[in-house]
Amino acid sequence: MSATSRLAQIPSENNNQEQNSPEVTQSGKSYESLGASISPLLGASLSQLTQWVQQQDQPAYRGRQLHSWIYQKGARTLSEISVFPKQWRQALADVSIGRSSLHYRLEAADGTVKYLLRLADGQIIETVGIPTAKRLTVCVSSQVGCPMACDFCATGKGGFSRNLARHEIVDQVLTVQEDFGQRVSNVVFMGMGEPLLNLDAVVGAVKSINQDVGIGMRSLTISTVGIPNRIRQLAQHQLQVTFAVSLHASNQKLREQLIPSAKHYSLEALLADCREYVQLTNRRVTFEYILLAGLNDLPKHATELARHLRGFQSHVNLIPYNPISEADYQRPSPQQIEAFVDVLKQQNIAVSVRRSRGLDKDAACGQLRLSVGLEL
Ligand code: SAH
Repeated sequence: MSATSRLAQIPSENNNQEQNSPEVTQSGKSYESLGASISPLLGASLSQLTQWVQQQDQPAYRGRQLHSWIYQKGARTLSEISVFPKQWRQALADVSIGRSSLHYRLEAADGTVKYLLRLADGQIIETVGIPTAKRLTVCVSSQVGCPMACDFCATGKGGFSRNLARHEIVDQVLTVQEDFGQRVSNVVFMGMGEPLLNLDAVVGAVKSINQDVGIGMRSLTISTVGIPNRIRQLAQHQLQVTFAVSLHASNQKLREQLIPSAKHYSLEALLADCREYVQLTNRRVTFEYILLAGLNDLPKHATELARHLRGFQSHVNLIPYNPISEADYQRPSPQQIEAFVDVLKQQNIAVSVRRSRGLDKDAACGQLRLSVGLEL
């Protein structure tokens, strides 16, 4: 709100400069070359944007204006930033803010909204907005598709195209915020892709979502299936985010059966890396555990899981399987889930059960695939 009133007080520029002048700044650099150096602008910090406007002989306060128009007002093009001098706006017509376009929007009965977003190169990704009474959570993708090929996950069945850039991740949060007309409270990296295979862009996006969009670090969650050496790299960034690891099995054999990459990263090594993460960051780890009826959801599995986690600063988040057409697993009954929870509780393991959202529109965990299966 204050940004809006400040913007309103800024005197409008005189627009009577010569229209036939070449598109060159006072320092002689072409706008075009300057634009290219930071384009797209989304994901840039206030100081980067300020530097950028100053390079173009604009006063520093234009950086704050630009920041506010990108992150608060949802500007999609520079030409719509009405507080900027007209000639400058025209000169910057080719500089991209980096917003994706909405390809398709699908609302589930529980209010969860799945978005198919079209990126600049035509690729499509999925993002989910999950409203509750007090929160609006966005489930963001970090890659187009996913190379991990977990057997129970629809995204993995569709293959992998490429990593997302930082601005393509930040864009997803802004898109949901604008569509709901409500501030996003939480962001989870649980959409398409494996965040730790795209660590630089993910860390850059986390910082921008925190500092530029204004969502608290502790309200952001990075979820990974575990990639050798990358957990330490993430820990070194010392982000105060929630860190979640998709464990899904209580022993190596079962884990390999569900997650092909587990063959190259033993459960023991993964857990050791998680322990190190706790030491390095002083943050607890959340272990996600998908419940597949008859396969990994028996009381003996809960006992085995508890043995691994004894004395570990952790929390278990159980995810009852969300059905996908490409796999033959079953969701356990509420009684089976309760029995699993009870065993963990008896062993003093902190545990919660994730509520599935958006199931009827394939918007729940593991159900995100490219546009396949949607009637467009
Ligand atoms: N690559 C990251 C993010 C993936 S999606 C990771 O593996 O953690 C977020 C969570 O949804 C993961 O725990 C994932 O294993 C889980 N998931 C995948 N398919 C699922 C399905 N069909 N039902 C329930 N959860 C699923």
